[in-house]
Amino acid sequence: MEQAQQIIRMSVQRALAIITAREAELGALDAHAGDGDHGSTMARGLRAANEAVAAADDGQSPGQLLMTAGNAFSDAAGGASGALYGMFMLTVGQRLDPTACDVRSVHDALAAGLEIISRLGKAKPGDKTMVDALSPFVDALGRAGEQGAGLATAWNEALPAAEAGADATAQMMARRGRSARLGERSIGHVDPGARSMLYLLQAVGEALEIVGLAG
Ligand code: ADP
Ligand code: MG
Repeated sequence: MEQAQQIIRMSVQRALAIITAREAELGALDAHAGDGDHGSTMARGLRAANEAVAAADDGQSPGQLLMTAGNAFSDAAGGASGALYGMFMLTVGQRLDPTACDVRSVHDALAAGLEIISRLGKAKPGDKTMVDALSPFVDALGRAGEQGAGLATAWNEALPAAEAGADATAQMMARRGRSARLGERSIGHVDPGARSMLYLLQAVGEALEIVGLAG
């Protein structure tokens, strides 16, 4: 259990590190599609999430820690992605099984998180949003789990599906969010939220390897 808490803490730390390094890139992608704030929004949200998780007491379960991070993220980040990522983290935290951290239970929690994003944002795969990175990842994680892989292995085996999904948004026309106003002019650039979703999933993959090696 302690190891699972460490994975959440390390994931939030790695997410902040990766997003900070990619802040300008995400801002530039959002400048093509929307208002250019996606990098700074994500960095602000993750700084707040890190502070909240660092201040959380050791008694919090992994799911509670993720909910703490999600609340802090949405309060600090604002915008569409603040609300969507915040609810995503809250929902996954709520659904995480407090007694198991196997691939199946993590997959089911993530699937619930995907569902809440799709419901709140009314986004389907192909609409050029963060869903286009998350949805293929959830499917790939499920498949890797069925083949008996452990969580760290399954997670990292599923990452190329998220990367392919994020890359594929370059050819899509935006149908949700601010960039939908661009219509066909939105084609040609990767969706910033799909790219940031990939980075967050990569951060968790790193955390699983770091904590797994230590533990
Ligand atoms: P804002 O659009 O408020 O400036 P951000 O720039 O931080 O917010 O985030 C934009 C990203 O949020 C988009 O690239 C997209 O991936 C995601 N997004 C926006 N609206 C939706 C939606 N309705 N459903 C799913 N994702 C969305
Ligand atoms: Mg924006």
